[in-house]
Amino acid sequence: MPALTSHRQLLSWLLLSLVLFLRPAWAAPGVDVASVSTQPLTLTTYVSILEDPTRNLTLADVQSPEQQPRFKADQPPGSSLAMGFTRSAFWLKLQLSNPSDAPVQRLLVVENPRISHVQANIPQADGSVRTINTGSDVPQSSKVYPNRNFVFPLNLPAHAEQVLYLRVESSIGLLVPLQLWPVKAFHTYERDDYTGKAWYFGIAVAMILFNLMLLFALRDPIYLLYVVFVSCTAGALAIKNGLAPDWSIFGEPLNSNVIYYSGVSLALAALLLFARRMMQLDRLLPRLDWLLRGMIALYLVSPIAYALALPYVSRAGILLNFATALILLLCAALCAFKRQRSAFFFLAAFALLMLGGAMTSLRAMGIVPTNLFTVDGLQLGSAMEMIVLAFALADRFNVMRREKARVQEELIRAQQQLVDNLRSSEHELELRVAERTDELRELNNQLEAMSLTDALTGIANRRRFDQVLEQEWGHARRSGECLALAVVDVDWFKRYNDHYGHPAGDACLREIAQALATTVNRSTDLVARYGGEEFVFLAPMTDLAGVRGMAQKLLQAVEALALPHELSPLGRVSVSIGVAASVPGQEASAEALVARADAALYEAKKQGRNQVLG
Ligand code: GH3
Ligand code: MG
Ligand code: MG
Repeated sequence: MPALTSHRQLLSWLLLSLVLFLRPAWAAPGVDVASVSTQPLTLTTYVSILEDPTRNLTLADVQSPEQQPRFKADQPPGSSLAMGFTRSAFWLKLQLSNPSDAPVQRLLVVENPRISHVQANIPQADGSVRTINTGSDVPQSSKVYPNRNFVFPLNLPAHAEQVLYLRVESSIGLLVPLQLWPVKAFHTYERDDYTGKAWYFGIAVAMILFNLMLLFALRDPIYLLYVVFVSCTAGALAIKNGLAPDWSIFGEPLNSNVIYYSGVSLALAALLLFARRMMQLDRLLPRLDWLLRGMIALYLVSPIAYALALPYVSRAGILLNFATALILLLCAALCAFKRQRSAFFFLAAFALLMLGGAMTSLRAMGIVPTNLFTVDGLQLGSAMEMIVLAFALADRFNVMRREKARVQEELIRAQQQLVDNLRSSEHELELRVAERTDELRELNNQLEAMSLTDALTGIANRRRFDQVLEQEWGHARRSGECLALAVVDVDWFKRYNDHYGHPAGDACLREIAQALATTVNRSTDLVARYGGEEFVFLAPMTDLAGVRGMAQKLLQAVEALALPHELSPLGRVSVSIGVAASVPGQEASAEALVARADAALYEAKKQGRNQVLG
């Protein structure tokens, strides 16, 4: 009977249209509960609302015909009813019908765990009404269905028509996403929903534990700030999602919305402290940094304000959080402009968080489809933010390590430079010492030479003569050769001095020394000034005849000088020479040889001077 069926359908459609057309302005369309069998139905457009600013209307009051016209239908379509920050209570009215022949079981879901008070008045099969009082300000045990959201089971007998009243009231922003779910579909959704949350909190716990370990290992307080930030964020999100247990202190139950707002405040205070440190804001943006300090202080005292007067300050709290996000974004942008590395991570983290937030909003507006990534975009964004900020910490660690390595390298280079400098100055010192040593050696040589030279005449002195005589004596004794020597004495020299003066005497002595040096000139011979006006010469490998010959030549050389000496019988300067020669061994000593020559000289003097004897 397809024709009949379509006929019937057409008829029911016409009837429905008529009802819709005729229904009063306060009546929203009814919900065919039986048709919601596979997919959830968003109830926003099916709800009519009564605002109760006095908050003291009862169910009986709102059910009364006088109050009915106060219900307003035609709510703007959307995933939720948004009442905003208001102190009013709201009554939501839903017309439910089960046109099918079988009883139907559905779940009414208020998908926002943050509503302070939710009262559901559910008609029962026997015509009575069951009132369930629950909400975030009421212990969890008040829930009739154990879920993080507020879920109310509905039972509609076959062909039943019911009117359901829901009363909501909140100390924070009031948002009521109202849905009708088939039981089986809701169970599937529940499983996916909890899996998604588990992922988020798993990531948060891993981040907390890992960074706690880093805090203990590296002892850098920035990890503590990160851990506090992530812990408070995750804690606040757990409360926001209705996943936290009931809180109480000394047996007194705590308001979970106060804890939620306080948790967000502490998370943002930690984030601000973290951001200041990471981006070195006190150095890069000192003025904005002062503003951030003020905000941190405000955040740290805000829990007191929330505890005392949440309904009056919750809107201000949201505005403060919004301002914080903007200021942090501004700081990150300015620091990024100044090429501060961590700022780029902050920008990326923010971008992901914003993207997540945008996804949630777009899904709420029905622009993007509902899936794992959009259903709780804010949560996904928060997880991404945590990960990116942890990455920023790793990068900071890396930068610090590189900086340390660079400083160490510089230090080593400086040390090497120092060692090189020391080495080169040591080398210089060595060179200078060597130079000085050479100079000293040279000086020593000069001194040595001076100590062996006669200052007046420039020929060898008595000391030198004694040394050489000793050597030659030994040499002659070993070789068995004859050694000869002569002692030369200037005649009448006292008179010369007296007559011509001492300087003239010195000049005379120099002349005679010169004559001696040129006359006795074999390389092995040695001429020396023996003292006063006495000279000696030594002639190795020379016998007595040889030395006499040499002495005669000297006598002639002095004569050739023809130095005038008025007080001498000769009228010129003359010398007397005593010679001696011997083969060492026969004689006792070199001194004895000198004594013999001296004796010969004495004899020459006695015999009239200007002659050689010996
Ligand atoms: P004789 O012929 O006996 O050797 O007579 P003499 O005057 O040479 O003998 P004497 O030994 O009495 O005198 C030596 C003099 O030589 C005394 C001293 O004035 C002089 N005389 C010694 N050494 C130097 C000297 O270095 N320079 C000068 N100008 N005179 C000297
Ligand atoms: Mg003399
Ligand atoms: Mg003399």
